[in-house]
Amino acid sequence: MSVKRTEVLTGPALWSAQAHFPSVLGRQLVIDRGEGSYVFTSDGRRLFDGTAGLWYANIGHGRAELAEAAYEQMRRLETYHIFGRFLNDRAVELGERLVGLSPIADAKVILNSGGSDAIDVACKLARRHWQLEGRASKTMILSREFAYHGLHAYGTSIAGLEINRVGYGTDSLVPETARVSTDDIEKVESTVHEIGAENIAALVAEPIQGTGGVITPAPGYLEGLQRICRENDILLVADEVITGFGRTGHMFATQRYHLEPDLIVFAKGVTSGYAPLGGVLVSPRLWQPFYRNSPDTPSFRHGTTYAGHATSSAVALRNLDILETDKLLPRVEELEQLLAHELAGLESREGVDATRVAGLLGGVTLAGQISAEAVTDELIEHGFIARPLRGNTVQFSPPFIATDDEIRAMVAALDSVIADHE
Ligand code: PLP
Repeated sequence: MSVKRTEVLTGPALWSAQAHFPSVLGRQLVIDRGEGSYVFTSDGRRLFDGTAGLWYANIGHGRAELAEAAYEQMRRLETYHIFGRFLNDRAVELGERLVGLSPIADAKVILNSGGSDAIDVACKLARRHWQLEGRASKTMILSREFAYHGLHAYGTSIAGLEINRVGYGTDSLVPETARVSTDDIEKVESTVHEIGAENIAALVAEPIQGTGGVITPAPGYLEGLQRICRENDILLVADEVITGFGRTGHMFATQRYHLEPDLIVFAKGVTSGYAPLGGVLVSPRLWQPFYRNSPDTPSFRHGTTYAGHATSSAVALRNLDILETDKLLPRVEELEQLLAHELAGLESREGVDATRVAGLLGGVTLAGQISAEAVTDELIEHGFIARPLRGNTVQFSPPFIATDDEIRAMVAALDSVIADHE
C-alpha cells in the first residue's frame, strides 16, 4: 500500500492555540495595538472588539492606569513567591480585597495564573476535602454537557465539549469524571443517583455557559443544581472565569442567580487581561481543616511559582478600582438591556434560530444553512470581532465601556451579513 504524502504547511514559529492550521495559515490577524473597545491589526485595520478578546478585556484595551500599576510594582518588587512562610504585600492586599467582594462569607483565596490552573485547584481541593472527611470514595467530578473549564488536566477531563476531551488515549485524562444534562434538572438528578452520591466529590458549573454557545440557564436549573448538591453532600463549584467581576452586572453571577457555591473559580476579568491571574474563593468548610492549630493538620500540597504574583496582583487591584470608580457594573446592566433589545430584533430573520442574552453576554444561533464561521469572518471585513461557537452560535461579549452606538452598529453589521446569506 502506498502512503500518500500530503504537503506540510509552514507558518510563524509560534503555534497558535486551538488552530486548524490548513484553515488559518495565510490569513492570521496580528493585533499590535489596543485602545478602548478597539484593537488594531499590523496591516492597519481598526476592529471593534465585540468579544473583549477571549471574554477578558472588560475595562477596554490600552489603559495607562494599569500600565502604571505594573510599572510601579515591577520597579519596587516584580514578585516574591508565597510558598511556606513567605508572602508578598501586593498578593496579601489582593487577597483581602477579593475576600471582601466574595459572595462566599469568610472565604480564603488561592491565587494562580489563570482559569485552567484554578479549575485544577478547585477539583483537587474538592477531592482532598472528602479524603480528609474520611469519605474516600467521593472522587468523581461532575460537569455539564457543553461545559468549558479550560484545558489543563482537570479542565480537559471535565470538558462537556467532547472535542476538547478526546484523543488522549482514554475518555479523559483524569478518569473519575462524568457529564450531566445542561438544562434538564430531572436528568441531572437521575445521573447523580445512578453514579451514587457516595462517589461524587463535586459538581462544576458555569452559571452561564460561555464556549458551549452562550447557554443561559434554563428557569429553575441552577436552583435545581444547588438543591441536588445540598441534598447529596456534593460540593458546588461555580466556574465564574467568564462571569466573575461584573460580566452579568453583578460582581459574580453567583449573586445574580442566588447560588451558594463552596468554591468560586475566577480569572480573566480580575485583571481585564492586563496580566495573567486566576484563583479560587474557598468556603470555610473547605479551608478550616488546613488551618487547625495541631501538629496533625495537613497542608494542601498545591502551589505554583507565580501564585500570588505581585505584579499581576497590583494590576488586579487597579482593575478592581476602575470597575468601581467608572461605575461599570451598573453600565453592564444598561448594556444588557440594549443588547437584548437589539438581538431580539434579529429573531424575525429566516437566518436566525434564537438569540440569548444574560449580562453583557450575547449568543445568536444561526439557522442551519448559514455558518457562524463564515458570518464572523465577514464581520471582520465590516470592522467587528465576533466569535463562532458550538451550535452555530455567534458570540458577543464586548467591553463594559462600549457605547450604545457601538452596540447598535455591531448588531446592525450582523444583521446585514446575515441578510446577504438569506
Ligand atoms: N473556565 C471557563 C468558563 C472559561 O471560559 C475558561 C477560558 O475561556 C477557562 C475556565 C480557562 O481559563 P484560562 O484560559 O485562563 O486557563
